[in-house]
Amino acid sequence: MVKTFIYKTLKNTLGNFSDNTYQEINNIKSQEDLITFRDKSLKNLILHSYNNVPYYKNIFNEISLSNGREVDLNKFNNLTILNKENIRNNEKKLISKDYNERKWRYNYSGGSTGEPIRFIQDYRYSEYASASNYYYYKNILNIEEPYVKKIIIWGSERDVFKGNIGLKSKMFNWITNTIILNSYKMSTEDMDKYIKKINSYKPDIIRGYSGSLYELCKHIQRKKTKIYSPKVLVGSAETLNSEMRKLIEETFGTKIFDFYGSREVSNLAGECKEGLMHILPPNLIEIVDKNNKPVSTSKTGKVIITNLFNYSMPLLRYQNGDMATLGPKKCKCGSVLPTLKKVDGRITEHFILEDGTVIAGEYFIHLIGLYCSQGSISQFQFIQRDYRDVQILVVTDLLNETAKKNIIEKIKLVMGQNCNIEWNCVLEIPKTPSGKFFYTKSLVSDC
Ligand SMILES: [Zn+2]
Repeated sequence: MVKTFIYKTLKNTLGNFSDNTYQEINNIKSQEDLITFRDKSLKNLILHSYNNVPYYKNIFNEISLSNGREVDLNKFNNLTILNKENIRNNEKKLISKDYNERKWRYNYSGGSTGEPIRFIQDYRYSEYASASNYYYYKNILNIEEPYVKKIIIWGSERDVFKGNIGLKSKMFNWITNTIILNSYKMSTEDMDKYIKKINSYKPDIIRGYSGSLYELCKHIQRKKTKIYSPKVLVGSAETLNSEMRKLIEETFGTKIFDFYGSREVSNLAGECKEGLMHILPPNLIEIVDKNNKPVSTSKTGKVIITNLFNYSMPLLRYQNGDMATLGPKKCKCGSVLPTLKKVDGRITEHFILEDGTVIAGEYFIHLIGLYCSQGSISQFQFIQRDYRDVQILVVTDLLNETAKKNIIEKIKLVMGQNCNIEWNCVLEIPKTPSGKFFYTKSLVSDC
């Protein structure tokens, strides 16, 4: 009760959104409401971009999308798709002239094809991201996420680098009944502790990297032990394939909901009880074929995203490298939000040490983002060749020696000081014969 009171009192600061932002999303009750919300938000973003973001003005003029006073949304589909190379080459031009008034911060991403980029996001962006997260849990999963008990199996950089999570995070976790279990590095002892913690805390929600939940479930199966079944289980950040889903659902005895997010544009879509992923309103998502034409229901294509609220660095029609399959217009769950049937996002493999410790693939992606997001590396892949042998493939014009040194140091922090690390500069990183790209690949078997 006390925590709920504190949370409600401090919600704007802690939860980073106001009731009004949530209500704006919650008021979308029909297709018409959704179109009104999107058209209004998109028009405002386009007008802002025309007048404040140097990259867009001429482009909008050329296709007659806007003249700075009016917007013709029928021309929106003619706007050239923005890829990672465009962003790297035009980083400064994509930043709004008034960004300093917008409480902004840097963020970075590897996206889905191992190409790191850096961008900035502001308060308004975060507010809609937090509100849509709350909306997803409340309206689609029927649970009041901020107030219930949560265990989050997620990467904690500070925990790995400094051995603790910091006082502010501790306070936030206490008020929101959250326990974070670090999944960047999970030894077999850690996994035993995590199982005990889940069984004693009995969380209403367990959320984690899909790959880390899968590794934990493999450990639970090997130990033939029991695990508490939460009301809601959510996997995110990595592709949840059918083999992972099956094992996780069997182990926890409950359905896992797949959540699609990304650092560039935050909460994109979340699965409902009918198995479809609903696209959350702060983002406009288009699924297009190889000729950039919209695909029809049940067809797979490239994911093109427009976040409607990041005014500090608007990314209009951004291609993040993922593929997705378009779902039906209506879902039996009753939500009016459009659907995706399936998302083929980031593929990572976890690294395994000799003693059974699991290192999340996300950790290596995070390192590249942290140290190499300013254009020195255009593509990368980490390969674990043996327990103590890591090969790094990079496509780069100029490898920053300080970044390289930092990355080697941080790899050794989790893989061991005697780990051999080999850097190879290459012209291209091959995809699998089926066209998939692995950020991290392990040639070491954990069976
Ligand atoms: Zn649904």
